[in-house]
Amino acid sequence: MKETKQFKTESKELLNLMINSIYSNKEIFLRELISNASDAIDKYRYFSLTDSEHYPSEEHYIRLSVDKKERTITIEDNGIGMDKDDLENSLGTIAKSGSKEFLEKFKKAKEENDFNIIGQFGVGFYSAFMVASKVEVVTKKAGEQGYRFLSEGKDSYTLEEDDKQTNGTIITLYLKKDENEEKYSSYLEEYKIKDLVHKYSDYVRYPIKMEVETTKPELDEEGKEIEGKTKTVIEDQTLNSMVPLWKKNKKDVTEDELKEFYKNKYYDFEDPLISIQLKIEGKVDYESLLFIPSHAPYNLYSENYEKGLELYSKGIFIKEKCPELVPDYLKFLRGLVDSDAFNLNISREMLQHSPALKLIADNIEKKAVEKLKETKEKEAEKYAKFWKAFGDHIKYGIYSTYGGKKELLEDLLMFHSLQKEDDGYLSLKEYKEAMGKDQKYIYFASGESLASIRLLPQLEKYKKQGIDVLLLDEKIDEFAVMMMQNYDKVEFRSIQDEKQEDISNEEKEKIEKVTADHKRLLDTLKESLNGKVEDVVVSSKLVDSPVCISTKEGLSLEMEKTLNEQRGDREEVKSQKVLELNPDHPLFEAFLRIENDDAKVGEFASVLYEEALLLEGREIEDKRGFVEKLNALITKAF
Ligand code: ADP
Ligand code: MG
Repeated sequence: MKETKQFKTESKELLNLMINSIYSNKEIFLRELISNASDAIDKYRYFSLTDSEHYPSEEHYIRLSVDKKERTITIEDNGIGMDKDDLENSLGTIAKSGSKEFLEKFKKAKEENDFNIIGQFGVGFYSAFMVASKVEVVTKKAGEQGYRFLSEGKDSYTLEEDDKQTNGTIITLYLKKDENEEKYSSYLEEYKIKDLVHKYSDYVRYPIKMEVETTKPELDEEGKEIEGKTKTVIEDQTLNSMVPLWKKNKKDVTEDELKEFYKNKYYDFEDPLISIQLKIEGKVDYESLLFIPSHAPYNLYSENYEKGLELYSKGIFIKEKCPELVPDYLKFLRGLVDSDAFNLNISREMLQHSPALKLIADNIEKKAVEKLKETKEKEAEKYAKFWKAFGDHIKYGIYSTYGGKKELLEDLLMFHSLQKEDDGYLSLKEYKEAMGKDQKYIYFASGESLASIRLLPQLEKYKKQGIDVLLLDEKIDEFAVMMMQNYDKVEFRSIQDEKQEDISNEEKEKIEKVTADHKRLLDTLKESLNGKVEDVVVSSKLVDSPVCISTKEGLSLEMEKTLNEQRGDREEVKSQKVLELNPDHPLFEAFLRIENDDAKVGEFASVLYEEALLLEGREIEDKRGFVEKLNALITKAF
């Protein structure tokens, strides 16, 4: 007996949308139907665990077939199947919150003409109506009567008994007629189906089978190939690779397999630098493959670079890039996460607020950092390569979290240093271990390049005393160090800062005396520099150079430059500069000879200042004035 039934209201709305869909991603219908088949087999197997009488164990499969003449695609499974009630409840009604939510979002998006969000949804069984004008479902549950469901998607569907004998479901889609932009018949092509299975359902854990045409060499009577002769045969092929690499036990996966997987998946011709396989059982179970490339992706620094990992559930692909899974400072990380905690219908919003996602993300961050630390300890060369390519991101991680990630990340940091003359790297731990008993601070100097930092007059003293100084040559360095404030309880101190607490009492007294004796000279210099410097002082920092410039209040010359380069509409920042004079230098002695001649001191004050600027690797503003004064001096000298 054939019964005609009405779809429930919500279902009608959804069907309507599917039929008149402006939803561009129509191809996902196959993913949805395959995933339903896979779920149905899961259910069968679940029952078979406890009731093997009604659910004897069998070989499970999902079978795809096409009929080009009839324009049909068929998806068959030998899973749990549906009885009459199931059919009405599952296919006659939207039972699933995911689909309901989709409907709401779709309506809202339509009002706002914003169709972006729509691409984010999985839409379930009804998605079949995006490509089919008629859908037939023949299904049977073990021990029950078989049924046939038929619908053209409009208001109603029909149900009638069917004499299907085996458990499972056969869904036949009668494809719509081709339109201008939509060539539905392309879904009848073998390559297209293979493509879609590969893209969306490669890791479904049951074989997705299809009969395909292949050409084989023809054989003679003895079974040898006849040269130049081939024949076309129909062969049963499994289209999916089923067991995803990440679902395998770690010990069964080789480093080479991971490398190949990475290169194929991310179209990189270079091996990844570091591969990480995770199988986590905890509050949320998940598997993950993570890769650190050997080189930064070409668009890593462009605005449209999207960070994120792919998301799978039970081996079924859900989402291309899930940005919530990686913190900004690890945005170069590639890979995927597979967790049963998500269902296919999950929406962007639900995903964003999912506690499971947050837990996984935190865990991934921790694991990635752990792996980096391990690499640093065990494979120094590899780590140096990592550091060259991505070190700035780690520093950015410390800076951008206002030091919040200091503890986590500080042992990943590496710097160049005064004593590493080959320009190699030094970790903070190594620096600290090499510190002398009396050394109170971790010293650093910053500048445009290693070469220009190595020229800083302030380094002379440290060179002489054999104290190491970190050389910060990347813009982000000093900002990160400022955020950290200390490492393992030892404070950082810029040798370009005006402060000088690490000198002997003897030295201190000497400086105080010279300062008091030549106050007039210092005052005149300061006055003549007319606001360019906050102060002119006698220095204890210099050995061979006559002058240097230091800064006050933590804003260094290098930071001043960086901030002003990136300032946009903001007001220019200004560091507070101090001109420091070396009391033991002949130049200072020369000034002492004219210290009572304010006019003369004033005339040459700017030369001292500009000389110091040059040594700090900065440009001088009044180049012409500087050259004229220099020329006047040379003229007098000869
Ligand atoms: P979801 O898969 O999220 O539940 P769908 O719209 O894809 O939503 O499917 C609705 C329901 O229809 C499923 O929950 C299931 O009960 C039933 N169903 C769909 N396809 C099959 C199938 N091949 N075998 C058995 N049941 C199915
Ligand atoms: Mg489904």
